[in-house]
Parts: sequence; C-alpha cells; structure tokens
Amino acid sequence: MDRVIAAAPQLAGIVPYDPKYLPAHAYLSANENPRDVDDAIRVQIEEEVRAVALNRYPDPLANDLRDLIAQANGLDRDWVLVGNGGDELLFDTALAWGGPGRTFLNMPPTFSVYAANARLTNTPIMDIPRIDGFAIDELRVLQALADPDNGITFTIVASPNNPTGLMVPTEFLERLLDATDALVMVDEAYFEFSRQTMRPQLERHKNLVILRTFSKAFSLAGVRIGYILAHPDVIREYLKVRQPYSVDAVSQAIARVVFRNRSAFEPRIQEIISERGRLADALRTLPGVVPHPSESNWVLFAVPDAPDAWQFLYDCGILVRDFSTAPGLEGTLRVTVGTPEQNDAFIAALRDFVLKPAVATSCTEGSESHA
Ligand SMILES: *Cc1c(COP(=O)(O)O)cnc(C)c1O
Repeated sequence: MDRVIAAAPQLAGIVPYDPKYLPAHAYLSANENPRDVDDAIRVQIEEEVRAVALNRYPDPLANDLRDLIAQANGLDRDWVLVGNGGDELLFDTALAWGGPGRTFLNMPPTFSVYAANARLTNTPIMDIPRIDGFAIDELRVLQALADPDNGITFTIVASPNNPTGLMVPTEFLERLLDATDALVMVDEAYFEFSRQTMRPQLERHKNLVILRTFSKAFSLAGVRIGYILAHPDVIREYLKVRQPYSVDAVSQAIARVVFRNRSAFEPRIQEIISERGRLADALRTLPGVVPHPSESNWVLFAVPDAPDAWQFLYDCGILVRDFSTAPGLEGTLRVTVGTPEQNDAFIAALRDFVLKPAVATSCTEGSESHA
C-alpha cells in the first residue's frame, strides 16, 4: 500500500514534544541537576544492578522501591505508585480521570505536558489563565469548580509552577480540595527545592494526589522514575490504566540505591538554593532584565530582545530555555541553576549581551568550546 489511513483525529493539531536540546557547553535548559550521581553512589548502583535478573520481567509495582518511598513519607505501600518518570503518571492521570465528556481545568502558563495529555485523551480543557505575577486566579478557579455545568473532573497544579517558579499557597490548595470532589493533583516535581509539600493534607483529602520525581533533585533525569502519593482507592484506578511493566528492573535498582542515599544529595540541593539567589540578584543588576521570584531550581526572567539574547547565550555555549513566544510568557527565558562556574559564565554572557547591544552581535568568549 502506498498510503495509510489517517491517525486518530485528536492528533491533528499536536506537535511532538521537543525539548529543544542542542549541543552546548553548559546545559541550563531542562531543570536537570547540574551534577551527576557521585562515584561512591555509582559503585553501589553497579553492585545493585549486577544482581538484577535481566531475563525476568520486573516487579510491576516496584514494591521494594515503593516501600522505601512509603516509609520515608509515613505511609503504607498502597498509598504509593511508582511510574516511568513523573510524565507517565501525568499521562495516566488523563487516562483515568479524563476522556470525552469530562473536563480538565488548566491554569496556564504551566507545564505544557498537562494540556497535551488532555488533548491526546479527548478531554476538553477549561483554561483559567494566571493573573499578575503568574498567581492563580483563585476566585475564578473556585467558581469554575463549584459550577457542576463545567463538569470538571480533574486539575493539576504545579507547586512550584514550571516555568514561572512560585509556590501555590497551601491555604488556597486546601480551599480547592474542599470546594470540589474533582481529582486535584499537586505536582511537586521541585519540592526538594521549595521545601514545602502537601503531604500533611493527604489523609484528609481523598481527592489529593501528590506527584514527585527523581529527575531533578536526585540527578536521575536519565533513568525515568517518578511517583505519586494518594489514597489507595485512587491508586487502584491508576493501576487499571498504567502499563504493567513501565518501570524496568534496572531503573528500579538505581532508584533504590539513590533513595537510600538521599541525604547525600542534601548539600547539592542547598547549593542550588543558594545559587538560585545569587543568579536572581545578578540578573536584577542588569538593565532591562527582570527575574521572576523562584522557589525552584531555575529562574524565569524577562530580557529585552529575548530571542536574540537566547542566540547570544547559545553562541557562548550556554543553552537556556526560550519561552519568548509562548503565550503568557512573551519576552522571557528560563535558566536552570547550574554549577557556580556555569552560573558565572551565564551571568557574564548575559551581561555582555545587555550592556553592549551595539557590538554584541556574537559571543566573544567560549564560542568554540561547544562546537
Ligand atoms: C520535570 C517535571 C516533571 C516530571 O518529569 P519526569 O522526568 O518525567 O519525572 C513533572 N512535572 C513538572 C512540572 C516537571 O517540570
């Protein structure tokens, strides 16, 4: 056959996810941990992985890892589910709580994956855009949830919100959880940097799901492990939609070692928090540059001629994320907090761009280093 029947109609408007990863000297675009897992922990990982039976299917529920996570959170095993990155659990949320005739409440600008999953599952989306300073329009959100005609079945609130950076106030999330029986996922992908969690509210709200990941604070973006905390009845619905073997045995083994050693990650988390402050302070001193407050491992900032600034930084070997044409984020770039050296290089390059616009047509430092 020289043709193929059209794919499902909901795919028509969808563009495949593109992380816009390009070769660079300093990768400050994807909110990864700038430091890889250290050698002492890698030795333990090698031992743990050596013992994995590669010919056997993995434990579908990753129960050993599940128990470690449950124990750390003061919960029983059936309150925890491990996924192939937080992304799988986000997709499972749309599969289990979305679908035709059900509505997803979204609060853009936020993580673009939420709306993409709703589209894939034919779930209508109700957008309530954020207001000044990227705060949630609390009144409108509560009103929308209270109106049964809207048929809202789930919502996802990232806290801190990616890419804007601020936490959602706990008092608002509590009011949200009281106002509706819709599923409310609080995406805590960056909670190790914000130091705030909805865990204390979990037992009081059956409609609360907390999402976390090993990809950011625990340096495991390459391994794909995330998890949710939720009431066992909610977890049971996720079990029905998930791919049984989505979390492979090697990833389970690596994640167990990293989680057992999680206190060793504390100094680098502290470093990222303090470097975040230093980055924001430095950005504030540059004319025309406005950093947004962040409780995460990145800083979103407005800069004049943002697309040119992005290119200038890239020519210096520094890859940041360009949001300058994203709705609601016009004129902004997002820089992930790197190592102190990477952050210095970023600040120096952006200063060159901002202070010498007439001559700064290309980077003078480090332009060969990433070729
Ligand atoms: C990174 C991220 C996740 C999860 O990422 P995984 O690598 O799939 O675990 C979830 N939500 C937000 C907002 C993120 O930025």
